Amino acid sequence: MIFMRRFFDHVSEKDWLSYEWQIRNRIRTLEDLKKFIPLLPEEEEGIKRTKGLYPLAITPYYLSLIDPEDPNDPIRIQAIPRAVEVDEKVQADGDPDALREEGEIPGLTHRYPDRVLMVVTTFCAVYCRHCMRKRIFSQGEVSRTKEEIDRMIDYIRKHEEVRDVLISGGDPLTLSLEKIEYILKRIREIDHVEIIRFGTRLPVLAPQRFFNDRLLDILERYSPIWINTHFNHPKEITELSEEAIDRILRRGIPVNNQAVLLKGVNDDPEVMIQLSRSLLRIKVKPQYLFHCDPIKGAMHFRTTVEKGLEIIRFMRGRISGMGIPTYAVDLPGGKGKVPLLPNYVVSKKGNTFIFESFSGELVEYTIDEVA
Ligand SMILES: *Cc1c(COP(=O)(O)O)cnc(C)c1O
Ligand code: SF4
Repeated sequence: MIFMRRFFDHVSEKDWLSYEWQIRNRIRTLEDLKKFIPLLPEEEEGIKRTKGLYPLAITPYYLSLIDPEDPNDPIRIQAIPRAVEVDEKVQADGDPDALREEGEIPGLTHRYPDRVLMVVTTFCAVYCRHCMRKRIFSQGEVSRTKEEIDRMIDYIRKHEEVRDVLISGGDPLTLSLEKIEYILKRIREIDHVEIIRFGTRLPVLAPQRFFNDRLLDILERYSPIWINTHFNHPKEITELSEEAIDRILRRGIPVNNQAVLLKGVNDDPEVMIQLSRSLLRIKVKPQYLFHCDPIKGAMHFRTTVEKGLEIIRFMRGRISGMGIPTYAVDLPGGKGKVPLLPNYVVSKKGNTFIFESFSGELVEYTIDEVA
């Protein structure tokens, strides 16, 4: 608990465990942040230059995970702006909406036949520097009105092929309980929708959100609901995030993790295997490892596809298949996700393959169909 409260030992236990307190006390300015942590010159400049474009917000909880002595702390890199975000090259090479999410109905993206994505708010507990939806943050902290949500719902009702509604943002679970329930109730009026998924990073950024039984009651009532969350580094798995996950799982809500491969944060096989082990221990399935999208203002987080493949290859044989995420790139222009795998087929002649085993051994194997 002492580790968890770095910089905040004067705050009462009750406040610290309150989500509302965490949100009310988010660190939003350079002056405020400086009180807690000595900043690097590129961070000071970054905060000044990203103002109004890519906002700063950090919950006291997430800030407390930073080691102030370490300029390369993975939490620090995800949460504190640096000048590189507005560097000419990082700006020029990136696209605000590389995945073409913006369409006819504000907030709704219908890319795959069976699934739709609803973006219901621009509000997040922390503004992650690598966010693929950075473009929406300059709009301020706004959530969709009931009328806008109704338009999205009407669309889903008219499209009977939609079985799966993915609610994202911003962070949809930052909405008021009343609004969360309104959205769920309206979606559940549609017979052809089978599952509802929330994309939320609150288990990582403000796990106290899930200490609220009323929220959990609502989520349980509109089952089947799944949660996709976004742990990127083993340091993010703390007593409090573990407790949040446990409370979610006890309500019959499975939790999957979607990490993003980020230079300087987790582009390291040892870090990623540690992340997967920690996730399995708290019963979260590592589902995806996304290659960082070419997003304006986040290009500096990109690494190579070779690095991603190296990480996946390293994991095979060292951790259960359950712990190996699907490594994927999202194609530009909204063409969808493509899974990538290291190549284990060294050669093939007829039905005779030479495979490379997890330990690097070459194994000949003839696979015939029995007539
Ligand atoms: C990623 C994504 C989905 C969900 O894809 P899954 O593989 O089912 O998680 C749905 N719609 C859009 C627009 C997406 O980008
Ligand atoms: S919580 Fe998610 S949507 Fe919000 S800034 Fe972070 S990555 Fe982006």
